[in-house]
Amino acid sequence: MPDLFEHLPAALGRRRAGSFACNAGCFGCISEQPDDSGFVSPQTRLQFKPTADEVVEIMLEHLREPDSIISFGQGCEGEPSTQAKTIIEAIKRVREQTQMGYININTNAGLTDHIRGIVDAGLDLMRVSTISALDDHYNAYYRPRGYTLANVEKSLKYATDKGVYTSINYLVFPGVTDREEEIEAMIGFAKRTGLKLIQMRNLNIDPDAYLSLIPPAQGEVYGMKTLLDIFREELPDVVIGSFTHVPPRTQKA
Ligand code: SF4
Repeated sequence: MPDLFEHLPAALGRRRAGSFACNAGCFGCISEQPDDSGFVSPQTRLQFKPTADEVVEIMLEHLREPDSIISFGQGCEGEPSTQAKTIIEAIKRVREQTQMGYININTNAGLTDHIRGIVDAGLDLMRVSTISALDDHYNAYYRPRGYTLANVEKSLKYATDKGVYTSINYLVFPGVTDREEEIEAMIGFAKRTGLKLIQMRNLNIDPDAYLSLIPPAQGEVYGMKTLLDIFREELPDVVIGSFTHVPPRTQKA
């Protein structure tokens, strides 16, 4: 298993730790681009691997308030679940010492076995990134290595069933996300996985490059406002938001 983590600057009392390895090769990855991609990644990946001791130390430093959140992965500086062994050990050791706060992972959730282990160790929150609930869209952009969208779905469902507050980091793009077939697929995906929150995030990418990558529309394009209306009607128990927060009804005392 490849290694490396980092401790990134704290933001709003929340702490994040990342990994330099990834099991996807996203077209618009913000932490790694091949030399011939035509654009550079705006950030770089980690160059060292902290020990479980170091991870535990940082976690305990931040899990001091009931609503504090510590996160593995900030969202695309590498895939944290490639470091499952260290994460599992760190979560278990932290939870032996405190039940304070929430432990989150931002992940592509393709490594289902790793995600299962992390969930079982005591994960509280999980945010899964995706641009689509359609295989051909997902594969065109994510270029997954050794997993499919079915693995992502399996990971999410497992986490939901185990009581993790699950969400998706839905990288949206008008003209693609609001297509009839995508809306239908995403409603099914949300229902099957039981996810609690859809975080709508603009995909910041060159529109011509993106549209040349993604398969053409099959049906109507409804517009983003209609998309939101449909989600609210079809998924009444799913929160439409834009960032990770503590679960609304089960906040710890
Ligand atoms: S999942 Fe994140 S880190 Fe991995 S290739 Fe995609 S954008 Fe980059």
